[in-house]
Amino acid sequence: MHARLESMIALTETVGCRTQALLACFGEPLSAPCGHCDNCRNPAETFDGTQAAQKVLSAIYRTGQRFGAVHLTTVLRGKLTEAIERHAHQHLTVFGVGKDHSEQWWRGVIRQLIARGAIKMTGEHGALGLDVEAARPILRGEETLHLRADPLKPAVSAQRGAPSSTIVDSLNDIERDRFEALRRWRRDEAREQEIPPYVIFHDAVLTEIARENPESVEELSVIRGVGASKLKRYGDAVIAVLEEA
Ligand SMILES: [Zn+2]
Repeated sequence: MHARLESMIALTETVGCRTQALLACFGEPLSAPCGHCDNCRNPAETFDGTQAAQKVLSAIYRTGQRFGAVHLTTVLRGKLTEAIERHAHQHLTVFGVGKDHSEQWWRGVIRQLIARGAIKMTGEHGALGLDVEAARPILRGEETLHLRADPLKPAVSAQRGAPSSTIVDSLNDIERDRFEALRRWRRDEAREQEIPPYVIFHDAVLTEIARENPESVEELSVIRGVGASKLKRYGDAVIAVLEEA
């Protein structure tokens, strides 16, 4: 069951061709990328995740390979919870080394390390352990890891069927004001770049931003439909609009 679950995670997290990954699950190698799956058509944005991976792997090692993704993320983010205190994990050197990223971001890194076989599920209750063979070269810095920048973020086009007005109707008054402010910013930005507004952000994404009201670019990064390139390009501007709205 674990092996099957791990192959499924590998399939969803892969930055490469999904057809190749799927066929590999059935032991049928495909020599070249298929050219028509979503990853082949839209290559995933990746970043050098070597250091992040090292932090996760040390956190697993130093907590005795007995904890699941939720607790490990809490350790990395340095949150002093009851469970952390009970296990005295606030004294570990890895405690708080991952403050600069969100919980979701760390879970994405963990999933991708499971997908690569560096982390394995060791027991019940989702406890995670190291696969020594796969983890060692990463910990020693002998292997550079390219991780997916925005794991499991569904394409905005999946929401194309819903009329914008319906999505916007779900907002309360305060959220609606934020949405209108974001829309004015998007209109001006679109005019300046001479592109249609939805190319900047779809209504569904603006609605989500208005609802979540992120206070930093980091918080904005976890909202669906805000990919790494949009974040880089518009992140600061969006936060500035929200601060004023
Ligand atoms: Zn493919």
